[in-house]
Amino acid sequence: MRIPDIHQRLADLGAKPAHAGRVVRAWLQGKPLDTGTRHQHTENFLPLSVRDGLPALSAELDGLLRLSAEHPGNDGSARLLVKLRDGQMVESVLLPRDGLCVSTQVGCAVGCLFCMTGKSGLLRQVGSAEIVAQVALARRFRPVKKVVFMGMGEPAHNLENVVEAIDLLGTDGGIGHKNLVFSTVGDLRVFERLPRERVKPALALSLHTTRADLRERLLPKAPRITPDELVDLGERYARDIGYPIQYQWTLLKGINDSPDEMDGILRLLKGKYAVLNLIPYNSLDEDEYQRPDGERIVQMVRYLHSRGVLTKVRNSAGQDVEGGCGQLRARALEPIAT
Ligand code: SF4
Repeated sequence: MRIPDIHQRLADLGAKPAHAGRVVRAWLQGKPLDTGTRHQHTENFLPLSVRDGLPALSAELDGLLRLSAEHPGNDGSARLLVKLRDGQMVESVLLPRDGLCVSTQVGCAVGCLFCMTGKSGLLRQVGSAEIVAQVALARRFRPVKKVVFMGMGEPAHNLENVVEAIDLLGTDGGIGHKNLVFSTVGDLRVFERLPRERVKPALALSLHTTRADLRERLLPKAPRITPDELVDLGERYARDIGYPIQYQWTLLKGINDSPDEMDGILRLLKGKYAVLNLIPYNSLDEDEYQRPDGERIVQMVRYLHSRGVLTKVRNSAGQDVEGGCGQLRARALEPIAT
């Protein structure tokens, strides 16, 4: 089910746009659907045909997904294992300070070498109603004021569904547009599409290296956009919407933490309307990739910061909770002290 299907169902029941908006807003808040009253000229009036049809619609929306398991972390985050109607699983992460990280695909076709999700390939798209239902589910636990599209999947590969979800969340969902964060490895379709939308989300671009050859190796199936081109595109979008781009840099020891890379960052990002998020890889002992030592990370931040690149170190939220998705380990971000 997609979001236009929900609006069509309500229209078929005889709901005017104002009625439909009220019903959808109740769903987005994780509340029972508002069945309104039969009294005309009151704020809560809903036609009888709509009230009669709501239980069936409500059952369908409730059936889009269900919580399969919850793993609370020590940092205020919680990993929600979510089962979709066909039995496929995705993860959402409740982040501290009213954030939520949602999944947009089951699996992912980009195949980033350091990501668990990429290893499975793409299994299926997550529909726009299923994306929004992750927010409705999370709101049963706590308020959600920020949604980051950084869970399983590459949002650019499911653009229609993600754009529909963003539009609804930024209107009836009551979330500020810059608190909707579209995360992508970089895809020309994103830069063409998002500026035309009425809800223009913030953008997080997975940069990871300033070297085109290394980026092709680490992100084997990402579109062939060079780091320079990506930053040019990002800068144009940031100036257009009026909030900065977040550049994501998963820090891999001995791979992309060299002084040459730091100088490459200065060349690319100095003076740009941007924030650089360094995300130390959340490694296990046996992993092929490891995070750099804490001392090295501090040096890097100081070096970049003192030369004018706004740099933050962020940890994956819920690191203490083992989960199946390397993507979430890498990208469900929370600031840590540096
Ligand atoms: Fe896909 Fe993101 Fe994982 Fe890369 S890091 S494989 S884009 S989910």
